[in-house]
Amino acid sequence: MIIILFGAPGVGKGTQAVILAEKLGVAHLSTGDAFRAAIKSQTPVGQLAKEYVDAGKLVPDHIVALIVEEAMSAKAFANGCILDGFPRTKAQAEALETMLESTGQEINSVVNINVDDSTIITRLLQRGRADDAEDIIRHRLTVYTDETAPLLQFYADKGLLTSVDGIGEVETVNQRILDALR
Ligand code: AMP
Repeated sequence: MIIILFGAPGVGKGTQAVILAEKLGVAHLSTGDAFRAAIKSQTPVGQLAKEYVDAGKLVPDHIVALIVEEAMSAKAFANGCILDGFPRTKAQAEALETMLESTGQEINSVVNINVDDSTIITRLLQRGRADDAEDIIRHRLTVYTDETAPLLQFYADKGLLTSVDGIGEVETVNQRILDALR
């Protein structure tokens, strides 16, 4: 079972992915978390990714592929996973399809979480991660609109897309996602 949680930075993908993975008993892959961990431990991938993550830019697709392939080849992913923050470009979506073809898995659902930009900015400023300065947040939102949001049509065309309202209590939003998956 492969589920993609989709949406702009700050819509709550990470929080929801952790809860969903627990409830559904599958693995969770956050490429953002994977990059932050790699940067912290100064691995080769971390060293390549750092300048992009710090600036709120997308890490180039070939570097993203390295981290995703490594994570998804782990045993825990054999039952499927919740993808959070991946894919973010058309090339990544195509790379994911190729990867899944080779493992015989398929995407079951893409759930888009909707939150308006002003709520996103307020939430992220409160979170206060290193890349949550206001100018970097605005840049990440622009990158989302330009490079990632076009994937909504890509997945809608495949009949895989549903959207949920991301405003509300964490558990309320989680229930909406579970309903969307049914
Ligand atoms: P996130 O934790 O999902 O907000 O991601 C934090 C940062 O990690 C992003 O601003 C990008 O620099 C990088 N990143 C995470 N996932 C991807 C991805 N799929 N493609 C490119 N860059 C990514």
